[in-house]
Amino acid sequence: MVIKRRLLARSVLCFEVHITEHCNLNCSGCCHFSPLAQKSFLDVNSFTADCNRIARLSGGHLQYIQLLGGEPLLHPQLIEFMRAARSCFDDSTRILLVTNGILLSNQPDLFWKSCADYNIQIAISKYPIELDIGTISTKAKTYIVKCGYYNNLIIVDFDFSSTDLTVEKQNNMWHYPLDLKGQQNIAENFKYCGFANSCITLRDGRLYTCASAAHIKFFNDYFKTGLSVTEDDSIDIYKAKNAEEILNFLAAPIPFCRYCNVRGRTKGHKWNISRKDLAEWT
Ligand code: SF4
Repeated sequence: MVIKRRLLARSVLCFEVHITEHCNLNCSGCCHFSPLAQKSFLDVNSFTADCNRIARLSGGHLQYIQLLGGEPLLHPQLIEFMRAARSCFDDSTRILLVTNGILLSNQPDLFWKSCADYNIQIAISKYPIELDIGTISTKAKTYIVKCGYYNNLIIVDFDFSSTDLTVEKQNNMWHYPLDLKGQQNIAENFKYCGFANSCITLRDGRLYTCASAAHIKFFNDYFKTGLSVTEDDSIDIYKAKNAEEILNFLAAPIPFCRYCNVRGRTKGHKWNISRKDLAEWT
């Protein structure tokens, strides 16, 4: 059932986008390669242009947009990204800010007010770290902002009855190995990959079916590897004639799938800070 859905074109577009490449947490084996990224911020004008183009193609409605990274709260112009996204898409498009939450309790009132004004939901990725959930929850309630722990597009309310909110996820991390030789079966990989046609990623005016192909540059730059990404791995939103062309592209395997060892993915690993060791990704 899931496989069939992956190979079927979606009916509505959606995307996630790195507005910050680097991170203030840097989890081991991060599938966005953020621990390996240099400090870098997305330009708000280029984001606005891309949103305008996608809005024209989609009729102004998407299933969702996820502003993430890296850690999006590190971006000094974060509020401008919220405003730009909402100005292109009406309230029928869910806009989520996906964060590790570390900087959330220190955000100024303007941040919370902007989340309310632009109807932005806050989704906290759950890691075994201490967060000031009391302050975060109070702010969210005061400004009537939907905010909670994140699980596959579902935002789960904070559970204050739990004495340790962090334990649950300590041994629940995935290992996503790459095949540096690129000898994997492309069609099989796409069929069984949970990211395929799911983590649709906007980068430099192009849409990718997954985050791995979109952000492999950071892995290549850091480890001096040559995992090849070509124009066939993504679709140019300025050249695409309509949303249907994009949706069909995103539902098909890409050449980069040969680098993913999808059958070798394993769950149940202890969460750690990255040591930027090649073994975290291979
Ligand atoms: S490149 Fe293919 S196999 Fe690898 S994460 Fe993306 S969709 Fe999945």
